[in-house]
Amino acid sequence: TLPVIYFVTPTYPRREQAPELIRLAHTLLHVPRIHWILANDYNACNAYLDGFLVKLGLPFTHLASPMPEFYRKKKPMPRGVANRRGAIQWIRQRNITNGILYFGDDDNTYDLRLFSEIRETQRVSMFPVGLIEEYSVSGPIVKKGKVVGFLDSWVAERRWPVDMAGFATNLAYLAEHSNASMPYKPGYEEDLFLRSIKLNLNIIEPKARNCTEILVWHTQTKTRERATLRISNKYLDDRSN
Ligand code: UDP
Ligand code: MN
Repeated sequence: TLPVIYFVTPTYPRREQAPELIRLAHTLLHVPRIHWILANDYNACNAYLDGFLVKLGLPFTHLASPMPEFYRKKKPMPRGVANRRGAIQWIRQRNITNGILYFGDDDNTYDLRLFSEIRETQRVSMFPVGLIEEYSVSGPIVKKGKVVGFLDSWVAERRWPVDMAGFATNLAYLAEHSNASMPYKPGYEEDLFLRSIKLNLNIIEPKARNCTEILVWHTQTKTRERATLRISNKYLDDRSN
């Protein structure tokens, strides 16, 4: 049987949440053997999301994983970190060592072929992500079937300058690293997570035809603040006339 993909999605309450999740759900419905860990940045399990997940019929776990207030005040904020930490903790507490872990944000776009690629992950697999910053792509450079470097618009001090959506981890490999963690450090979450599982170049499995194809895009939905509603009293006035 196929190994299960634990698809970890951080999400948070805003007016784009429902449409983002509906769109993502309709991708995941096409994928066999998937377990959706929907980790909401909110202090309770929201009843609308519960109902939505039940109706979908996919195996799921709904986590309430709010960002600690301390981090919410920071600029930049560690977006989605409390959520992913919650999901890692959920997996570890259950000693799930069979399956694949993938961090898939709620606003990205996923080609169905991505799922067949990451399902084969033995330890850590990597592949390009489209629409990342200035270069429009972030991903490994592969020579003779081996990852030898990375292309990314913002390398900074990162040893692993990759996007969150650009790698997958086998849970047996994760379980071998008891210090695995994702710290609250904006910009460095991927790098520090991959360091915590003692990644080295030799074990990286390039996917998506030796990293020449883009199967996931870092699409971003335009957001805006909620407006203050001003209810017109025109008709109320009319009625009183
Ligand atoms: N996110 C969250 N809480 C927040 C902001 C973002 O849980 O306060 C989630 C969001 O739903 C997404 C992930 O964290 O799955 C990354 O956030 P976003 O897509 O806004 O960041 P970007 O892609 O612009 O870096
Ligand atoms: Mn995003």
